[in-house]
Amino acid sequence: MSNKQGGQDMNGQAVPVRSRGVMLVLSSPSGAGKSTISRALLERDPRLSMSVSMTTRPPRPGEVDGVDYFFRSIPDVQAMVAQGGMLEHAKVFDNYYGTPRQPVEEALRDGRDVLFDIDWQGTQQLAQNAREDLVSVFILPPSLEELERRLRGRAQDPEEVVRKRMSKASDEMSHWPEYDYVVVNVDIEDSILAVQAILRAERLKRTRQMGLAQFVNGMRQDG
Ligand code: 5GP
Repeated sequence: MSNKQGGQDMNGQAVPVRSRGVMLVLSSPSGAGKSTISRALLERDPRLSMSVSMTTRPPRPGEVDGVDYFFRSIPDVQAMVAQGGMLEHAKVFDNYYGTPRQPVEEALRDGRDVLFDIDWQGTQQLAQNAREDLVSVFILPPSLEELERRLRGRAQDPEEVVRKRMSKASDEMSHWPEYDYVVVNVDIEDSILAVQAILRAERLKRTRQMGLAQFVNGMRQDG
């Protein structure tokens, strides 16, 4: 059977119907395990790539332009915002941050999923600008004690720094009701599998599968 709507699954196998990509947002207070989960998802799933934000802040040692961020001047970023080139943006202290629209839209059209590591404010804007494509997941720590243990890690940060982080984490945690899914990260492998399951189910949503009507009609006519 020939089918113009077809595509490939994550193993490169031909499938008769392909789905539009998903914008997968992971948010969490720092220390809840978001970075570990993001890294594992990207390693295990070739259909998923990370959205690279644009920022006006200078690169830190080791950061690479086009990988960690697109490092641009303030007028460049302001011009992008004015032209509607950002899906969302924010000013954090004296710097601008934003998600360039074009690479995300291209990926979604091609059936590739995009992972976003942004906070609740960015997620709210994405929900306003691209609700249909958005799937948001909030990662919670299993307990406050465990979060504190993870935040302290092996670094010997001063007590004041740890207190500040805990207080910021508490503010961030209050935003869980704005998310589609919530994963309590007790066991990291289990949490990775949970987010993979969310992504898998979201890809199968009827509204994301392109050309279903033609596909089914084709079979009914053939039969
Ligand atoms: P940093 O400068 O430490 O990399 O990031 C500072 C803050 O900016 C973090 O809270 C981070 O989540 C936020 N941020 C980074 N990229 C974006 C983005 O594209 N959009 C928004 N809204 N916030 C961002």
